[in-house]
Amino acid sequence: MSQQNAHSVRKEIENASSGAQPIRGDLGASILGPQNVPLQRENPDLLASPWTDNGTLPNLKFSFANSRNRLLTGGWAREVTIRELPIAKDLAGVNMRLKPGAIRELHWHKEAEWAYMLAGTARITAVDDQGRTFIDDVRQGDLWNFPTVTPHSIQALDDGCEFLLVFDDGNFSENNTFLLTDLFKHTPREILAKNFGVPEKAFADIPLDVEHERYIFSGQVPGSLFKEMPKSSAGPVPQTFSHHMMAQEPIICPGGWVRITDSTNFPAASTIAAALVNINPGGMREIHWHPHDEWQYYISGHGRMTVFASGEHARTFNYQAGDVGYVPFSMSHYVENQGEEPLLYLEIFRTNKFTDFSLNQWMAMTPPELIQAHLNVDKSTVAALHKDKQILVGS
Ligand code: MN
Ligand code: MN
Repeated sequence: MSQQNAHSVRKEIENASSGAQPIRGDLGASILGPQNVPLQRENPDLLASPWTDNGTLPNLKFSFANSRNRLLTGGWAREVTIRELPIAKDLAGVNMRLKPGAIRELHWHKEAEWAYMLAGTARITAVDDQGRTFIDDVRQGDLWNFPTVTPHSIQALDDGCEFLLVFDDGNFSENNTFLLTDLFKHTPREILAKNFGVPEKAFADIPLDVEHERYIFSGQVPGSLFKEMPKSSAGPVPQTFSHHMMAQEPIICPGGWVRITDSTNFPAASTIAAALVNINPGGMREIHWHPHDEWQYYISGHGRMTVFASGEHARTFNYQAGDVGYVPFSMSHYVENQGEEPLLYLEIFRTNKFTDFSLNQWMAMTPPELIQAHLNVDKSTVAALHKDKQILVGS
């Protein structure tokens, strides 16, 4: 055997033992060149796609594990924006961790901020344009929503915390928010003195250099909720900025459960609608589509999604915890739980109302003869279609 042949045979054996090969039936062949076996295993439906996949689609997956993480004294933050996932024009996401007592600096931004608590507890504050105040403590499964340009803060309580932030513009960057210290640093001290009616020397020690950058910094765990916020003559904000999503009754489906939160049950979320989806093993989010782009965040489990883009184009992607998925509006899709644990993920849309179109429902509510003429399926199949949305079908 030549050295070249021996090398090829060894590669074949390595590939066979890796369990991830670009082979489907009679099609494809093992990889002889360089390969990344862990990544291939994570994406089996890209390596050897189902025969129904075809044509070109934009990339619809980016993992927070592939984002640069910004480390600071109080924790860290990483983002998936239009720069990481170019198709994601509508929404951008940030994954942030705060140690106990750590503070995400007082700030504001152009985009509305929607959040889901992943773990731990935090205190959030905001003040609106009328001087009306908001303060609340949030825990795992809670949401918040700060409208555009509303100034706010986040501080971790005893256990520390981690959360997902979603912004209603794909162009958002967590590194370009309006920070309190940045504003003070770039305002002449005599102007600060004039503005606040206090002597200039009061501002002698405000942080000026990069070393004193706040952004995410260590702090003391604050006292009780009721003592903290200054009393406002204008009172509290008329619509609360927080929402206890887990207190909502779930919609129980054959394949799991769903909690939908939009402006109908959380009025402050006027630009972002969301569904928290829990699919049982073997279950599936039914084939459907939406009038808005869908930004997904996978919390736990293993999922597989095929996106049908019309004109013979379809592609299948695999997702796991920490991955972001995206579906452009109008493209039909399903999400299948391929693991042995529940698949938990968020569907997020830049709109005030959650809306989806169910393939099942459309077929069931269309004259059966018309369906039969298209699909060549028998009468009993058409009769068995569900008149109501299933949302999640069972195994
Ligand atoms: Mn913010
Ligand atoms: Mn969807």
